[in-house]
Amino acid sequence: MTPEVQIAIVGGGPVGLVATLFAADAGLEPVVIEPRETPIDKACGEGLMPGAWRLLRDLELEPPGAELRGVAYLQGSARAEHRFRNGTGRGVARPTLHAAIAARAAERGIRVIRARVDAVTPHDTHVTISGPDVGPLTAGHVIAADGLHSRVRELVGLGARPQRSSARRFGLRRHYAIAPWSDLIEVRWTPHGEFYVTPLGPELVGVALLGRRGADFGAALADEPELAARLQADARGESPAQLGQVRGAGPLLQRTRARTAGRVLLVGDASGYVDALTGEGLRLGMAEAKAAVAAIAADDPARYERDWRAITRDFRVLTSGLVVAARSPLRPAIVPAAVHLPRLYGGIVERLAR
Ligand SMILES: Cc1cc2nc3c(=O)[nH]c(=O)nc-3n(C[C@H](O)[C@H](O)[C@H](O)COP(=O)(O)OP(=O)(O)OC[C@H]3O[C@@H](n4cnc5c(N)ncnc54)[C@H](O)[C@@H]3O)c2cc1C
Repeated sequence: MTPEVQIAIVGGGPVGLVATLFAADAGLEPVVIEPRETPIDKACGEGLMPGAWRLLRDLELEPPGAELRGVAYLQGSARAEHRFRNGTGRGVARPTLHAAIAARAAERGIRVIRARVDAVTPHDTHVTISGPDVGPLTAGHVIAADGLHSRVRELVGLGARPQRSSARRFGLRRHYAIAPWSDLIEVRWTPHGEFYVTPLGPELVGVALLGRRGADFGAALADEPELAARLQADARGESPAQLGQVRGAGPLLQRTRARTAGRVLLVGDASGYVDALTGEGLRLGMAEAKAAVAAIAADDPARYERDWRAITRDFRVLTSGLVVAARSPLRPAIVPAAVHLPRLYGGIVERLAR
C-alpha cells in the first residue's frame, strides 16, 4: 500500500521540528503531530553547546540569545574554567528557540497536526498511528520525538526498566531578568544538587537546579549566598528579578532497549536520556534527527541504530560517569580535581562541545 504521508514526526519540540527541516531538505514530505501550541516552555538549562549552535546555523537559524564561551565549575571558593577552543555556543531561552524553529518549519510549509498520538502499529510497509484527534494515519516511517516520557517508545516496546526511585534525578528551572555576569555556563556544586546558570540575553539569565525529587529551588538558592546575591534573592531564595514559575522535568534517566523498531525511529529525549549535568540534550537530539532522516532517505532505517550509538557514546560514558561520581563520596573532590587537572577538565569540556 502507499502510505498517506512519507514521514510522520510525533512530537514538535525542538528536536522533532529540526527533524522536519532535515526531512524537507532531503526532499521528503514530513508531517508533525504535536498537541500543544507553539512556543512551548520547558525546564532546560538552555545552553546550546558549540556543536548544537553550528547545527542550527547550518539550518540558517540564529535565534537571539547570549554567546557562551565555555564552562566553569564552582564549589565554595574553588573555580575551574575552560573556554571552548573551537567556536562558541549560545544561551537561548527555550520559548525563543522553539519559536524560531517553528517559524522556519512554517515558512517551509510543513504541516502540523494538533493532536496527541496514543496508538502506533508498525507493519512491513508502513506504520499506522492514531489518537483522539488524529487518524488512523498511515506513514512510511515514524520519527518519535515525543520527549523524556515517550509514549511511542512504550507502544513499540523499546522502553527499558526504569531506574530505582531512590536514585532518580530531576531538574528545575527559573528565569531571572538580570544582566549576565559571565559568558560561561556556570555549574555550581552544592549540597542540594547542581545549579546550572546560563546567560540568555542582555537582561536574562536561566538558572536550573539538578538534584533529587522534591529539591526546593528557593531553599537551595538561599544556601548559596554568592549566587543568591547575584540574583538579588532574599533569605528564602525569592528575588524581585524572577520571571514566571519554577518549571520541572524528570526523572532524567530514561533507558531504551534499542532505537528502532522496524519503521519507527526514536530521536531526542525519546531515544533515551542520561542527565542534564553536561548540557548536551539539544546537540545530541538534533544530530540524531539528522541521522534518522538520512537513514530513512537511504531506505535503511536499521543503520540509524549504529549512528545513534556513535552520536551518543561520549554522553553515555562521560555523563553517566560524572553522575555516578556526583552521587558518591567522591562528590566533594570533583571541583578540586577540575581545578588541579585543568587539561583533563578542558579535554572533557571539549568533548562535550563537539
Ligand atoms: C533541567 C534540565 C536542564 C537541561 N539543560 C540543557 C542544556 O543546557 N542544554 C541542552 O542541550 N539540553 C539540556 N537539557 C535537555 C534538553 O532540554 C532536552 O534534551 C530537549 O528538550 C529534548 O528535546 P525533544 O524535542 O527531544 O523533547 P521535548 O522538548 O520534551 O519535546 C517533546 C514534544 O513531544 C510532544 N509529545 C509528547 N507526547 C506526545 C504524544 N503522545 N503525541 C504527540 N506529541 C507528543 C510534547 O508536547 C513536546 O512538545 C536539559 C534538560 C533538563 C530537564
